[in-house]
Amino acid sequence: MAFLGRSNVGKSSLLNALAGTKGLARVSSEPGRTRLVNFFRVTGAVRPGRGGRGEFYLVDLPGYGYAKAPKSVREGWGSLVNSYLEDRDPLRLCVFIVDARHDPSAGDEMLRDWLDHHQRPYVVAANKIDKMGRGEARRRERALASALGSGAEAIIPVSATKKTGVDELWKTIRAAAFDRHDFEASE
Ligand code: GDP
Repeated sequence: MAFLGRSNVGKSSLLNALAGTKGLARVSSEPGRTRLVNFFRVTGAVRPGRGGRGEFYLVDLPGYGYAKAPKSVREGWGSLVNSYLEDRDPLRLCVFIVDARHDPSAGDEMLRDWLDHHQRPYVVAANKIDKMGRGEARRRERALASALGSGAEAIIPVSATKKTGVDELWKTIRAAAFDRHDFEASE
């Protein structure tokens, strides 16, 4: 499970919103890799009320497109994330976070193309919907769906600050993490 998005899009806020309500525990960065990659371990009921427990990791990858970052960091982003995403077999879902107010940036389009090309399952979390009214939120959702959504499993409007849509995002993450027979067998 990987969280991806442009810098400043609210990725940390969204992870904290999930952590606050869902009991995620931040675990140390993977040894030998850059400290920029944070891991959260999630342990809990596989299907609430039906018993069975499972565990998975959320991986917080560094944001892209931060113009003020040193050049070496900007250039390193692509190779870090690329190798990280390419190496991972158990990556069940990518959560691709965008700012609901804006059309996709060049970086967003690059990431979308990468995910589509490698056929990685992903959902788009359209963040900061608290900054607009309902009608505008629906219009933006449709615009993002046509710009980014062809390969996405879903577009989920969220607000990290107001916690809107966080439950729905969580359900999607949990379903992707636990929809395998190995977990069902332990129930
Ligand atoms: P990151 O760089 O993607 O990790 O972004 P941060 O989580 O640090 O957030 C960047 C800025 O956006 C901060 O000032 C946050 O307070 C703000 N922000 C994040 N999520 C939301 C949201 O859902 N609504 C609003 N209005 N602001 C948000």
